[in-house]
Amino acid sequence: MSSLSISTLSELIKKLAPSQFNSIIIDNAVSLKRFDYCYLYAEVQRLEFRSDSITCAADRYLSQELMSLTERYDGGDYLRIDSGLVERMKSAPRVSGTGFFNGARRRMSELINGGRDVNLNKLQLETEGPRLAKQQPIFAVKAESGVTHCKLCNGSGTIQHTDKQGSVQQENCAACEGFGYVGTLTWFTTNVIEKQVEMVRCLSGEIANLKASVIVAHKGNDTTPKRMLTRFNGINVEEYDPDVKPYLDAMHDKVGNGNAVEDIFFCIVPCFTFSYRNVITGEIRTGVVVDPFRQPELLLNLEGGGRKFFSGVSNSMKHLSHFFGGLGQTVTYKDKQDLRRTIRLLIAVAVADGDVTEEEKKTLTLTIRNISNFTTDEQEELVALLGAADSGFLTDDDFTFHSLENRDEALARLQEMATADGTVHDAERDIIERLNFKQ
Ligand SMILES: [Zn+2]
Repeated sequence: MSSLSISTLSELIKKLAPSQFNSIIIDNAVSLKRFDYCYLYAEVQRLEFRSDSITCAADRYLSQELMSLTERYDGGDYLRIDSGLVERMKSAPRVSGTGFFNGARRRMSELINGGRDVNLNKLQLETEGPRLAKQQPIFAVKAESGVTHCKLCNGSGTIQHTDKQGSVQQENCAACEGFGYVGTLTWFTTNVIEKQVEMVRCLSGEIANLKASVIVAHKGNDTTPKRMLTRFNGINVEEYDPDVKPYLDAMHDKVGNGNAVEDIFFCIVPCFTFSYRNVITGEIRTGVVVDPFRQPELLLNLEGGGRKFFSGVSNSMKHLSHFFGGLGQTVTYKDKQDLRRTIRLLIAVAVADGDVTEEEKKTLTLTIRNISNFTTDEQEELVALLGAADSGFLTDDDFTFHSLENRDEALARLQEMATADGTVHDAERDIIERLNFKQ
């Protein structure tokens, strides 16, 4: 499994959203989270069965036809027949109530059970390439078809009858129409039902507000379905890649069991979520990189609300001191310079809106006094800046940090300072943007 580094992500954002890149700081503290989305597409063929049964008087031809049918050994339990036989059965005189084949319809429905009890491997179905053809033959159920002597006339075709004069008359048997034979044909027709199903699943939880259509757009060009299941004409193949088995199980819940053919295409679309700060609004948002290794797409502002990421100027100053090694601790010369730049910028933002609040003044003064690495003169110089009328004291050097890391930290603190009173003034924004765009 490939992973995505913060630096690669940063390059991707620069490439995919150049206009937004400058106002984004990726939150290093919240690591990228990978979500493997799976796009699945299934083409399924299943068989639907409709069964019927007719018992009729069978003349010599029909009797022979039914007899030769049940004597056939080629097709097993189900015999392919042509529709002509069904038509001949339908047009022959019906026999009912003979009791002999009465149970056929019931037994047949038990045998077929709406198709669930039909063994697909025992059917010789018509195919078109690797698929089932739309037109399928009619199948007779061998165990429930056949010919027998008529019970009423014992197969003679006639019934003796004594008239009023006492003479014996021969009459055609009413049940078998004088043929002496009764035939039963039990058959079913098969309908091929086709279904296409599309699905997007992620087993490791979903990314909030990420639309399935985004994943579908990354399904790739190779949408040739892979044969996963075939179950007819003696073929019984079920092949699943164990890695995608859980996804296929989810697909099976949708397409149902008992299919004859399943062609399933799947494509894994990796997505990475990250947390970022919007430099201008000071909000933390979630971004997603979809499909970074093939066809990267960037989604920003995924969460609707967003939240402020700081809780006050005092907390912000604590964060600043932790970042620069802690107040009173030894810091490197370069870090010390960057810390001085940061504080000058913070003071500039504080005075930029024309009004330094008591809290800002107190916190900044306290912070400056606590930095023992600064000489008293350096401290005095910084505290004095709190009385400045505006941010005019800043020079280009104040925006030139030794490290990007220090620059980002300064940016974050400026953000907090600027947004602490709820609104960002133009003068404050100017300072932030100037630092942010400084390369
Ligand atoms: Zn009869």
